[in-house]
Amino acid sequence: MTKIPFQAESKRLLELMINSIYTHKEIFLRELISNASDATDKMYYRALTDDSITFNREDYYIQVETDKESRTLTLTDSGIGMTHDELENNLGTIAKSGSLAFKKEQEIKDGHDIIGQFGVGFYAAFMVAEEVQVISRSVDEQKAYLWTSNGTDGFTIEETSKDEIGTKIILTLKEDTEEETYEDYLDEHRLQSIIKKYSDFIGYPIKMNVTVSQPKSDDSDEMEEVEELQTINSMVPIWRKNKAELKEEDYTQFYKDKRYGFDTPLDHVHISVDGAVRYNAILYIPESAPFDYYSKEFEKGLELYANGVLIMEKCSDLLPDYFSFVKGMVDSEDLSLNISREMLQHDRQLKLIAKNIKSKIKSQLKTMQKNDRNKYLKFYEAFGRQLKFGVYSDFGMNKDDLQDLLMFYSSKEKKLVTLAEYVERMADDQSHIYYATGESVTRIDKLPQTEMVAEQGYEILYLTEDIDEFALKMIASYNEKEFQSVSSADLNLSENDKESTATEEDQAIFAKMKGFLEGKVTDVRESKRLKTHPVFLAADGEITIEMEKVLQSMPDNQDVKADKVLEVNAKHDVFQSLKQADDETLELYTKLLYNQALLIEGLPLEDPVAFTQDVCKVMAN
Ligand code: ADP
Ligand code: MG
Repeated sequence: MTKIPFQAESKRLLELMINSIYTHKEIFLRELISNASDATDKMYYRALTDDSITFNREDYYIQVETDKESRTLTLTDSGIGMTHDELENNLGTIAKSGSLAFKKEQEIKDGHDIIGQFGVGFYAAFMVAEEVQVISRSVDEQKAYLWTSNGTDGFTIEETSKDEIGTKIILTLKEDTEEETYEDYLDEHRLQSIIKKYSDFIGYPIKMNVTVSQPKSDDSDEMEEVEELQTINSMVPIWRKNKAELKEEDYTQFYKDKRYGFDTPLDHVHISVDGAVRYNAILYIPESAPFDYYSKEFEKGLELYANGVLIMEKCSDLLPDYFSFVKGMVDSEDLSLNISREMLQHDRQLKLIAKNIKSKIKSQLKTMQKNDRNKYLKFYEAFGRQLKFGVYSDFGMNKDDLQDLLMFYSSKEKKLVTLAEYVERMADDQSHIYYATGESVTRIDKLPQTEMVAEQGYEILYLTEDIDEFALKMIASYNEKEFQSVSSADLNLSENDKESTATEEDQAIFAKMKGFLEGKVTDVRESKRLKTHPVFLAADGEITIEMEKVLQSMPDNQDVKADKVLEVNAKHDVFQSLKQADDETLELYTKLLYNQALLIEGLPLEDPVAFTQDVCKVMAN
């Protein structure tokens, strides 16, 4: 028997294959099972045109067996088999796909279930095996042949005997090394989990002997371990089933089986698209965020299947960052995969799918917001923050997509409301959407600056998260109504409120106070918004005080500061004392009031000791 050498380029390619194309050695099993499934499909297609063959789907399965003593892993199928020439050509030449040729020859239009296309998958076996034997009998030949190779220099083919049509592939596993325990591939549980992971939706049963314990006899409590031939894969993927026949529980079960999360998903979308790209997808909105969700460790992504075979566990290109909480899978026949089937070659199809998915998620969330507010609030509590980041990031590129999904606490409704709901309720004379920022609802409720706007009867949105104001600034306006902080210098209240009632004498006091606060505030002026409080710090310009706080807390802060204005309530009793004070007392009072304003804003006092001393001075008087 002569050894047929691999062609020179095949040899190089083979080395590359074995050593570097695949990141996970375990995928060899996926490739061999896919080939077995392809071979069985080919039998089915042959039966369509060949009357001498009857194809009963139930009779076909793929068997996986192990033998620890001989270190062998064997895969058996009853597919179409290979002739002598096919063994030589399809297994002897790398990058020759008999399956691709078959599809072309047979002009199988809906033969899209055939997985093979590159003619390299088979060689993945040499990542784990020191020798591969293929015993095959073709439907087209009486004789059976044995193909043997160690994957390095060539292969031999000799005649052998085999009763049934089909192929048996025997891998003799490599010796264990420090980095890799090849023996794992003889372990029943390991094999089961690899099959479940990559080949769960192969259309034929994948059977394996599994150890089970059972009572020794009918009336015995004693247990014994026996081998039982079990089907490992679930075969029909849920996403190919008829939606009408699927219940909510089925989707929840799939979520749990797939370990997408430990929670029970709030909602799902089942998509079947038969357009420019064909794909199926099942997407879930989880109920709660995983513990690492808002950390760098979190990896977004959907499972990606090509024809029911897992290609990627977390395909991040399928989800925008702001929907990174979505879990689930996409299965498509139309993906152009690269040679290792681990990556996608052209992302055109993927981009189309991603775009489609994005809009489906958006509309699903909108529907939930509209029809099941409680459910949406649950979702929003877990992931609202991510949506706000989405509005803010990428220079606001996605704000139009996201603004309607946002919700903020309303001073009037005492619960979260949407921007649309706010605008709907706006008073006729109200020109702006008002908001106030602070640590919590209770804290904002007590802020002096909300008084005037609330008095006016206007609703105020309470922003309690650091990202909130940045997100609103990015949106800038909703329904042509601009956002306006109740702390900003110009409140844009109705015209007559703007008129000043401050006398010249008052103005002189303000000017003196400004002098005392040199470098701390840009101005001291009469307040139009205060009712019961004496002072308040407003901000002139784009940066508000709340934003200053957030920016200052960032590691790379550029020392950005808001232009602060001390607003004084000229109608407050305290102002009478200011009027009567001599310059020294006025300076003392001014500093006290300024520090009070800082405290109310939640800003740190520049010099707490000086402040308490000032308080004592007043008390000792
Ligand atoms: P691909 O599956 O992409 O075509 P492979 O390297 O996995 O490439 O397989 C090469 C070819 O070998 C297949 O196209 C097929 O013609 C043949 N082949 C591999 N495994 C089997 C099998 N179990 N039964 C029949 N033919 C097979
Ligand atoms: Mg293949």
